[in-house]
Amino acid sequence: MNEVHRIDLPRIVLVGKGVIDSLGEICEELGLVKPLIVTGRKTYEIAGKRAMKILAEAGLQSETTLVSNADLGTVEKVSEEAVTGKVDSVIGVGGGRTIDIAKISAYKSDTFFISVPTTASHDGIASSLASIKGLGKPYSMKANSPIAVLADSRIIAESPYRFTASGCGDVISKAVSVRDWRMAHKENGEYYGEYAGSLALMSSNLIIRNAHLIRDRLEEGYRILLEALVSCGVAMSIAGSSRPCSGSEHLFSHTLDMIAPDAALHGEQCGVGAIMMAKLHGLDWGEIKETLRVIDAPTTAEELSIDDETLIKALVMANTIRPERYTILSKVNLTEGSARAIAQECEVI
Ligand SMILES: [Zn+2]
Repeated sequence: MNEVHRIDLPRIVLVGKGVIDSLGEICEELGLVKPLIVTGRKTYEIAGKRAMKILAEAGLQSETTLVSNADLGTVEKVSEEAVTGKVDSVIGVGGGRTIDIAKISAYKSDTFFISVPTTASHDGIASSLASIKGLGKPYSMKANSPIAVLADSRIIAESPYRFTASGCGDVISKAVSVRDWRMAHKENGEYYGEYAGSLALMSSNLIIRNAHLIRDRLEEGYRILLEALVSCGVAMSIAGSSRPCSGSEHLFSHTLDMIAPDAALHGEQCGVGAIMMAKLHGLDWGEIKETLRVIDAPTTAEELSIDDETLIKALVMANTIRPERYTILSKVNLTEGSARAIAQECEVI
Protein backbone atom coordinates (compact mmCIF):
# COMPACT_ATOMS: atom_id res chain seq x y z
CA MET A 1 0.00 0.00 0.00
CA ASN A 2 1.37 3.37 -0.97
CA GLU A 3 -0.59 5.96 0.93
CA VAL A 4 0.55 9.51 0.42
CA HIS A 5 0.12 11.78 3.41
CA ARG A 6 -0.01 15.36 2.18
CA ILE A 7 0.67 18.25 4.56
CA ASP A 8 -0.07 21.87 3.64
CA LEU A 9 1.28 24.43 6.08
CA PRO A 10 1.37 28.23 6.19
CA ARG A 11 4.53 29.51 4.55
CA ILE A 12 4.84 32.67 6.66
CA VAL A 13 3.58 33.23 10.21
CA LEU A 14 4.06 36.59 11.89
CA VAL A 15 3.02 37.02 15.53
CA GLY A 16 3.65 40.27 17.43
CA LYS A 17 2.90 43.95 17.85
CA GLY A 18 2.20 45.81 14.62
CA VAL A 19 2.77 42.88 12.25
CA ILE A 20 -0.18 44.05 10.11
CA ASP A 21 2.15 46.72 8.77
CA SER A 22 4.09 43.97 6.97
CA LEU A 23 1.07 42.91 4.90
CA GLY A 24 2.29 44.64 1.73
CA GLU A 25 5.78 43.17 1.97
CA ILE A 26 4.39 39.70 2.64
CA CYS A 27 2.18 39.89 -0.47
CA GLU A 28 5.16 40.98 -2.53
CA GLU A 29 7.30 38.21 -1.09
CA LEU A 30 4.66 35.68 -2.04
CA GLY A 31 4.30 37.15 -5.51
CA LEU A 32 0.72 38.28 -4.94
CA VAL A 33 -0.33 41.40 -6.79
CA LYS A 34 -4.10 41.55 -6.62
CA PRO A 35 -5.68 40.61 -3.32
CA LEU A 36 -9.29 40.83 -2.22
CA ILE A 37 -9.70 41.98 1.38
CA VAL A 38 -12.66 40.41 3.18
CA THR A 39 -13.58 42.24 6.36
CA GLY A 40 -16.53 42.77 8.69
CA ARG A 41 -18.26 46.09 9.32
CA LYS A 42 -16.69 46.61 12.73
CA THR A 43 -13.35 45.07 11.83
CA TYR A 44 -13.14 47.38 8.81
CA GLU A 45 -12.65 50.27 11.23
CA ILE A 46 -10.28 48.30 13.47
CA ALA A 47 -8.01 46.76 10.86
CA GLY A 48 -9.62 46.45 7.40
CA LYS A 49 -9.12 50.11 6.51
CA ARG A 50 -5.53 49.91 7.65
CA ALA A 51 -4.91 46.77 5.58
CA MET A 52 -6.26 48.61 2.49
CA LYS A 53 -3.95 51.55 3.12
CA ILE A 54 -0.91 49.33 3.66
CA LEU A 55 -1.55 47.46 0.40
CA ALA A 56 -2.09 50.73 -1.50
CA GLU A 57 1.18 52.09 -0.13
CA ALA A 58 2.91 48.94 -1.32
CA GLY A 59 1.53 49.68 -4.79
CA LEU A 60 -0.86 46.73 -4.81
CA GLN A 61 -4.19 46.91 -6.53
CA SER A 62 -6.52 45.50 -3.89
CA GLU A 63 -10.29 45.30 -3.63
CA THR A 64 -12.33 45.18 -0.45
CA THR A 65 -15.62 43.54 0.38
CA LEU A 66 -17.59 43.92 3.61
CA VAL A 67 -19.37 40.86 5.00
CA SER A 68 -21.77 40.49 7.89
CA ASN A 69 -23.07 36.91 7.88
CA ALA A 70 -21.15 33.65 7.95
CA ASP A 71 -23.53 31.80 5.66
CA LEU A 72 -23.34 30.02 2.34
CA GLY A 73 -24.87 32.96 0.44
CA THR A 74 -22.08 35.25 1.62
CA VAL A 75 -19.45 32.71 0.62
CA GLU A 76 -21.00 32.42 -2.88
CA LYS A 77 -21.01 36.19 -3.24
CA VAL A 78 -17.39 36.63 -2.10
CA SER A 79 -16.12 33.72 -4.23
CA GLU A 80 -17.81 35.26 -7.25
CA GLU A 81 -16.21 38.60 -6.52
CA ALA A 82 -12.83 36.88 -6.30
CA VAL A 83 -13.35 35.16 -9.65
CA THR A 84 -14.78 38.11 -11.58
CA GLY A 85 -12.22 40.49 -10.06
CA LYS A 86 -9.47 38.07 -11.15
CA VAL A 87 -7.77 38.37 -7.76
CA ASP A 88 -4.88 36.08 -6.84
CA SER A 89 -5.56 35.97 -3.11
CA VAL A 90 -8.21 36.52 -0.46
CA ILE A 91 -7.14 38.25 2.74
CA GLY A 92 -9.46 37.70 5.70
CA VAL A 93 -9.20 40.64 8.13
CA GLY A 94 -11.53 40.10 11.05
CA GLY A 95 -12.90 37.75 13.67
CA GLY A 96 -13.55 34.03 13.38
CA ARG A 97 -16.52 34.32 11.03
CA THR A 98 -14.84 36.68 8.61
CA ILE A 99 -11.75 34.47 8.56
CA ASP A 100 -13.93 31.45 7.76
CA ILE A 101 -15.71 33.22 4.89
CA ALA A 102 -12.40 34.37 3.43
CA LYS A 103 -10.91 30.88 3.82
CA ILE A 104 -13.75 29.07 2.03
CA SER A 105 -13.99 31.79 -0.63
CA ALA A 106 -10.27 31.41 -1.38
CA TYR A 107 -10.77 27.65 -1.64
CA LYS A 108 -13.76 28.02 -3.98
CA SER A 109 -12.10 30.61 -6.18
CA ASP A 110 -8.80 28.69 -6.21
CA THR A 111 -6.77 31.61 -4.85
CA PHE A 112 -4.36 31.95 -1.93
CA PHE A 113 -5.68 32.71 1.54
CA ILE A 114 -4.04 35.08 4.01
CA SER A 115 -5.31 35.20 7.58
CA VAL A 116 -5.22 38.48 9.53
CA PRO A 117 -7.24 37.78 12.69
CA THR A 118 -8.52 40.66 14.84
CA THR A 119 -9.51 38.32 17.69
CA ALA A 120 -7.95 35.19 19.17
CA SER A 121 -11.28 33.46 19.72
CA HIS A 122 -10.55 30.03 18.15
CA ASP A 123 -7.99 27.92 16.34
CA GLY A 124 -9.40 28.56 12.86
CA ILE A 125 -6.98 31.48 12.40
CA ALA A 126 -4.27 29.18 11.05
CA SER A 127 -6.11 26.00 10.08
CA SER A 128 -7.41 24.69 6.78
CA LEU A 129 -10.85 24.06 8.28
CA ALA A 130 -13.80 26.41 8.39
CA SER A 131 -17.38 26.23 9.55
CA ILE A 132 -20.24 27.96 7.89
CA LYS A 133 -24.01 27.93 8.27
CA GLY A 134 -26.00 26.19 5.58
CA LEU A 135 -23.66 23.30 4.87
CA GLY A 136 -26.04 20.89 6.53
CA LYS A 137 -23.58 19.90 9.24
CA PRO A 138 -22.59 21.69 12.42
CA TYR A 139 -18.87 20.95 12.21
CA SER A 140 -16.17 22.27 9.91
CA MET A 141 -15.30 21.66 6.26
CA LYS A 142 -11.90 21.41 4.65
CA ALA A 143 -10.68 24.44 2.74
CA ASN A 144 -7.24 25.95 2.11
CA SER A 145 -4.49 26.34 4.69
CA PRO A 146 -3.52 29.99 4.90
CA ILE A 147 -0.34 30.74 2.94
CA ALA A 148 0.40 33.44 5.52
CA VAL A 149 -0.87 34.30 9.00
CA LEU A 150 -0.36 37.79 10.41
CA ALA A 151 -1.52 37.78 14.03
CA ASP A 152 -1.08 41.30 15.35
CA SER A 153 -1.02 41.13 19.14
CA ARG A 154 -1.72 44.84 19.44
CA ILE A 155 -4.98 44.53 17.51
CA ILE A 156 -5.94 41.38 19.43
CA ALA A 157 -5.18 43.06 22.78
CA GLU A 158 -7.69 45.76 21.86
CA SER A 159 -10.48 43.28 21.07
CA PRO A 160 -12.99 42.42 23.81
CA TYR A 161 -11.28 40.17 26.37
CA ARG A 162 -14.11 37.66 26.11
CA PHE A 163 -12.80 36.55 22.68
CA THR A 164 -9.33 35.96 24.14
CA ALA A 165 -10.74 33.89 27.00
CA SER A 166 -12.72 31.89 24.45
CA GLY A 167 -9.56 31.18 22.43
CA CYS A 168 -7.97 29.85 25.62
CA GLY A 169 -10.96 27.54 26.14
CA ASP A 170 -10.54 26.17 22.61
CA VAL A 171 -6.82 25.49 23.18
CA ILE A 172 -7.19 24.03 26.70
CA SER A 173 -9.80 21.60 25.35
CA LYS A 174 -7.07 19.82 23.32
CA ALA A 175 -6.17 17.98 26.54
CA VAL A 176 -9.39 16.06 25.90
CA SER A 177 -9.43 15.88 22.09
CA VAL A 178 -5.95 14.34 21.98
CA ARG A 179 -7.04 11.78 24.57
CA ASP A 180 -10.12 10.97 22.46
CA TRP A 181 -7.93 10.56 19.39
CA ARG A 182 -5.51 8.21 21.17
CA MET A 183 -8.44 6.19 22.46
CA ALA A 184 -9.86 5.92 18.93
CA HIS A 185 -6.47 4.68 17.79
CA LYS A 186 -6.19 2.03 20.49
CA GLU A 187 -9.78 0.87 20.51
CA ASN A 188 -10.91 1.54 16.98
CA GLY A 189 -7.75 1.15 14.92
CA GLU A 190 -7.83 4.75 13.76
CA TYR A 191 -4.70 6.50 12.46
CA TYR A 192 -2.93 8.45 15.19
CA GLY A 193 -0.14 10.91 14.51
CA GLU A 194 2.16 11.25 17.48
CA TYR A 195 3.63 14.51 16.23
CA ALA A 196 0.28 16.22 15.60
CA GLY A 197 -1.09 14.89 18.90
CA SER A 198 1.92 16.15 20.86
CA LEU A 199 1.71 19.58 19.25
CA ALA A 200 -1.95 20.01 20.21
CA LEU A 201 -1.34 18.73 23.73
CA MET A 202 1.66 21.00 24.19
CA SER A 203 -0.48 23.99 23.19
CA SER A 204 -3.02 23.08 25.86
CA ASN A 205 -0.31 22.69 28.49
CA LEU A 206 1.20 26.05 27.55
CA ILE A 207 -2.08 27.84 28.21
CA ILE A 208 -2.59 25.97 31.49
CA ARG A 209 0.93 26.97 32.61
CA ASN A 210 0.66 30.60 31.53
CA ALA A 211 -2.97 31.35 32.35
CA HIS A 212 -2.04 34.24 34.65
CA LEU A 213 -0.12 36.04 31.86
CA ILE A 214 -3.24 35.95 29.72
CA ARG A 215 -5.55 37.01 32.56
CA ASP A 216 -3.26 39.99 33.25
CA ARG A 217 -3.50 40.97 29.56
CA LEU A 218 0.27 40.92 29.16
CA GLU A 219 1.88 41.04 25.72
CA GLU A 220 3.64 37.76 26.53
CA GLY A 221 0.29 36.14 27.31
CA TYR A 222 -1.21 37.22 23.98
CA ARG A 223 1.82 35.90 22.14
CA ILE A 224 1.60 32.53 23.90
CA LEU A 225 -2.09 32.25 23.04
CA LEU A 226 -1.57 33.25 19.40
CA GLU A 227 1.31 30.84 18.98
CA ALA A 228 -0.76 28.10 20.60
CA LEU A 229 -3.67 28.78 18.23
CA VAL A 230 -1.31 28.70 15.24
CA SER A 231 0.21 25.44 16.54
CA CYS A 232 -3.26 23.90 16.77
CA GLY A 233 -3.90 24.87 13.13
CA VAL A 234 -0.58 23.31 12.17
CA ALA A 235 -1.41 20.15 14.16
CA MET A 236 -4.62 19.75 12.14
CA SER A 237 -2.75 20.30 8.88
CA ILE A 238 -0.20 17.66 9.86
CA ALA A 239 -2.91 15.21 10.87
CA GLY A 240 -4.90 15.97 7.73
CA SER A 241 -8.08 16.40 9.77
CA SER A 242 -9.46 18.18 12.83
CA ARG A 243 -8.80 15.03 14.92
CA PRO A 244 -6.05 16.40 17.22
CA CYS A 245 -8.11 19.48 18.06
CA SER A 246 -11.69 18.29 18.07
CA GLY A 247 -12.99 15.46 20.23
CA SER A 248 -15.95 14.88 22.54
CA GLU A 249 -15.74 18.42 23.96
CA HIS A 250 -16.16 19.83 20.44
CA LEU A 251 -19.10 17.51 19.78
CA PHE A 252 -20.70 19.01 22.89
CA SER A 253 -20.02 22.53 21.59
CA HIS A 254 -21.33 21.76 18.08
CA THR A 255 -24.50 20.32 19.63
CA LEU A 256 -25.01 23.51 21.63
CA ASP A 257 -24.64 25.48 18.39
CA MET A 258 -27.60 23.49 17.09
CA ILE A 259 -29.89 23.58 20.11
CA ALA A 260 -28.90 26.92 21.65
CA PRO A 261 -27.48 28.97 18.78
CA ASP A 262 -25.52 32.10 19.67
CA ALA A 263 -25.77 31.51 23.42
CA ALA A 264 -22.01 31.41 23.91
CA LEU A 265 -18.77 31.44 21.92
CA HIS A 266 -17.24 28.30 20.41
CA GLY A 267 -14.20 28.24 22.71
CA GLU A 268 -16.30 28.98 25.79
CA GLN A 269 -18.45 25.94 25.05
CA CYS A 270 -15.44 23.75 24.31
CA GLY A 271 -13.89 24.75 27.64
CA VAL A 272 -16.96 23.75 29.64
CA GLY A 273 -17.27 20.57 27.55
CA ALA A 274 -13.62 19.78 28.29
CA ILE A 275 -14.23 19.90 32.06
CA MET A 276 -16.88 17.18 31.85
CA MET A 277 -15.18 15.06 29.15
CA ALA A 278 -11.92 15.18 31.13
CA LYS A 279 -13.85 13.76 34.08
CA LEU A 280 -15.23 10.95 31.87
CA HIS A 281 -11.68 10.18 30.70
CA GLY A 282 -10.33 10.15 34.26
CA LEU A 283 -8.13 13.18 33.51
CA ASP A 284 -7.44 16.05 35.91
CA TRP A 285 -10.67 17.94 35.23
CA GLY A 286 -10.13 20.15 38.27
CA GLU A 287 -7.02 21.64 36.68
CA ILE A 288 -8.91 22.44 33.49
CA LYS A 289 -11.72 24.06 35.46
CA GLU A 290 -9.34 26.05 37.64
CA THR A 291 -7.43 27.32 34.58
CA LEU A 292 -10.65 28.44 32.92
CA ARG A 293 -11.55 30.23 36.15
CA VAL A 294 -8.19 32.00 36.29
CA ILE A 295 -8.65 33.09 32.68
CA ASP A 296 -12.20 34.26 33.43
CA ALA A 297 -13.76 31.89 30.92
CA PRO A 298 -17.12 30.22 31.64
CA THR A 299 -17.12 27.05 33.76
CA THR A 300 -20.87 26.58 34.26
CA ALA A 301 -24.09 26.32 32.24
CA GLU A 302 -25.20 29.63 33.67
CA GLU A 303 -22.01 31.34 32.52
CA LEU A 304 -22.66 29.93 29.04
CA SER A 305 -26.11 31.59 29.22
CA ILE A 306 -27.93 28.28 28.91
CA ASP A 307 -30.16 26.48 31.40
CA ASP A 308 -29.23 23.19 33.02
CA GLU A 309 -31.67 21.16 30.91
CA THR A 310 -30.17 22.47 27.66
CA LEU A 311 -26.71 21.47 28.84
CA ILE A 312 -27.89 17.97 29.72
CA LYS A 313 -29.67 17.64 26.38
CA ALA A 314 -26.44 18.65 24.59
CA LEU A 315 -24.46 16.05 26.56
CA VAL A 316 -26.89 13.27 25.61
CA MET A 317 -27.14 14.37 21.96
CA ALA A 318 -23.43 15.08 21.35
CA ASN A 319 -22.64 11.49 20.46
CA THR A 320 -25.21 11.43 17.64
CA ILE A 321 -24.23 14.42 15.52
CA ARG A 322 -21.05 12.92 14.07
CA PRO A 323 -21.28 9.15 14.57
CA GLU A 324 -18.04 8.36 12.71
CA ARG A 325 -15.98 10.32 15.22
CA TYR A 326 -15.11 7.85 17.98
CA THR A 327 -14.70 9.57 21.36
CA ILE A 328 -15.28 8.86 25.03
CA LEU A 329 -18.95 9.58 24.33
CA SER A 330 -19.13 6.62 21.93
CA LYS A 331 -18.00 4.48 24.82
CA VAL A 332 -20.00 5.75 27.77
CA ASN A 333 -23.24 6.55 25.93
CA LEU A 334 -24.62 9.11 28.34
CA THR A 335 -28.25 8.92 29.43
CA GLU A 336 -30.14 11.84 30.89
CA GLY A 337 -29.39 10.53 34.36
CA SER A 338 -25.67 9.93 33.87
CA ALA A 339 -25.27 13.24 32.01
CA ARG A 340 -26.87 15.08 34.90
CA ALA A 341 -24.66 13.25 37.38
CA ILE A 342 -21.45 14.12 35.53
CA ALA A 343 -22.47 17.79 35.17
CA GLN A 344 -23.31 17.94 38.86
CA GLU A 345 -20.08 16.25 39.93
CA CYS A 346 -18.11 18.84 37.97
CA GLU A 347 -20.36 21.59 39.35
CA VAL A 348 -21.18 22.74 35.86
CA ILE A 349 -24.88 22.77 36.78
ZN1 LIG B 1 -12.30 24.56 18.26
